Amino acid sequence: MYITQRLRRFGTSIFTEVSAAASEAGAINLGQGFPDFDGPEFVKEAARKAVTEGPNQYAPMGGYPELNRAIAARYEREQGVSVDPLQEITVTPGCTGAIGSAMLGVLEPGDEVLLLEPWYDSYPAMVELAGGTCRYLPLRAPDFRIRLEELEAAITPRMRMMVVNTPHNPTGRVLDEEEMAAIEQVAEKHDLLVFSDEVYDQLWFDAPHRSLLARPGLRHRTIVGNSIGKTFSLTGWKIGWTIASPELTAAVRAAHQFTIFSVATPLQVAAAAALNAPDSYFESFRDDYRARRDLLVDGLAAAGLDVICPQGTYFALVDHRSMGLPDDRAFCRFLLDEAGVAAIPCSAFHHDGDRPGGGGRDLVRFAFCKTERVLSEAITRLKRLKAGG
Ligand code: GLN
Repeated sequence: MYITQRLRRFGTSIFTEVSAAASEAGAINLGQGFPDFDGPEFVKEAARKAVTEGPNQYAPMGGYPELNRAIAARYEREQGVSVDPLQEITVTPGCTGAIGSAMLGVLEPGDEVLLLEPWYDSYPAMVELAGGTCRYLPLRAPDFRIRLEELEAAITPRMRMMVVNTPHNPTGRVLDEEEMAAIEQVAEKHDLLVFSDEVYDQLWFDAPHRSLLARPGLRHRTIVGNSIGKTFSLTGWKIGWTIASPELTAAVRAAHQFTIFSVATPLQVAAAAALNAPDSYFESFRDDYRARRDLLVDGLAAAGLDVICPQGTYFALVDHRSMGLPDDRAFCRFLLDEAGVAAIPCSAFHHDGDRPGGGGRDLVRFAFCKTERVLSEAITRLKRLKAGG
């Protein structure tokens, strides 16, 4: 009863809801995207050492400099863009913290923000908390491509920003050159800012991820959000960051300094050690995930489900229409009750998802950031479903 008007309509996040239902049912949770294994020992060891030996007091507001430098070095190495560690990087509590400070820092009341739909659930909530208004550009299955004419048509006179996510949760799409050129062209033409959520930047399986900030026309109008959560299987550490021009960074920090101020110092020290890992770490991380993706995608197909193979992220979508359930929520309920497997209904990622005919109702999302044993058990259960009729 105390929840403000502007937050009330967002309710409880679908991830919290599905994880609670999964644990109540004792189901295998392929819903919320968190690994069921921990990050590498060398990173945990670096954290233990930092806790024991310090530093344990506040880090500078923009981040522990050693971490800022490690972020800049990795970004430069992978994306070929040089970034000033102290003027252009801000360490935040996960990418969710980056999204929050970015929206609060740059949006004026009444600014419109374009979200690619399906979207990650903190985008609309943070846009509206910051006083902005969301507009939506639906991406359609099975290819979920951004088309220049559609993007252009979605721009309104009051539009200030667009939010992009590549590799994309939940569709598993990795933006290609043509789509990034379209975003660049439209952003320049309409003088838009871009928030680019790149938390799955290491999780691409075919063509490599390219950062939007690496495009010349977007270099000074883009705020990149990222974190170590996915790449180092440490989602609970909540160490993330923004990368943006000094002017945009000043706006992000204007919000960050009063909402968060600074993030756990010893974990920042360990995050620097993580990002300084040799390239071989990132390569074998990707190979492991490619194997997990293939295991899940092949297993879902063998269970008779219509699966869309992801190019990136640790999620795969299934079009459930051939299974005869009325919508995505009903299908997820059915999976939970009959197979003991939890998945996420994709209508939760659409502004009109709760209305008949609304977006995402044909699709459910499975996470494959799980051990081989767990994925195999989930597949066995799903296969039985079909066999049992
Ligand atoms: N990023 C995770 C997912 O998409 C969820 C994180 C959360 O629960 N907020 O599943």
